[in-house]
Amino acid sequence: MTEKYVMNEYELNRLENERQGYRLDTDYVNDDGVLCCGNCDGKKEDWYNGKYNHGYIICSCEQERQRQQEEADKIAARVEHLQWVCFGNDKRLYEHTFENDDAQDPVMQKIKRYADNGNKAYSENIGLLLWGNTGNGKTYAAACIANSWIKEFASKHKVRDNYV
Ligand SMILES: [Zn+2]
Repeated sequence: MTEKYVMNEYELNRLENERQGYRLDTDYVNDDGVLCCGNCDGKKEDWYNGKYNHGYIICSCEQERQRQQEEADKIAARVEHLQWVCFGNDKRLYEHTFENDDAQDPVMQKIKRYADNGNKAYSENIGLLLWGNTGNGKTYAAACIANSWIKEFASKHKVRDNYV
């Protein structure tokens, strides 16, 4: 039977100080004195033979959170790149989306339906003609369609070699 290592006060203080950098309210200390994730029960510290190794371990749910964050960041970067290709520096157009639209205009509802069926429109060669006087929202509607397709494309495809 191995003797359990007991930390002195200096080591305990040092450990508590280090823990402040990564300890969450939901985390707990297990019977061996190791800090564990309250969500996935994974160890959050590197211990060897009952001795703390001054190392922070990423638990599996944190790993998954980081993976999702990286994926979301990649998609956001792709969207921004495609918007730049599509609209250039006219940042106003980046904000024209169906999500931002108040959906009160029945014409906009039809335009959204067209955008939502973009694959069918593409494969069956169905176009959409936006027609009207200056200021009636043609550019706005076109930008909403473009942004909708950009977001869908960016969530599924890389947009440039060695890029995002
Ligand atoms: Zn976890």
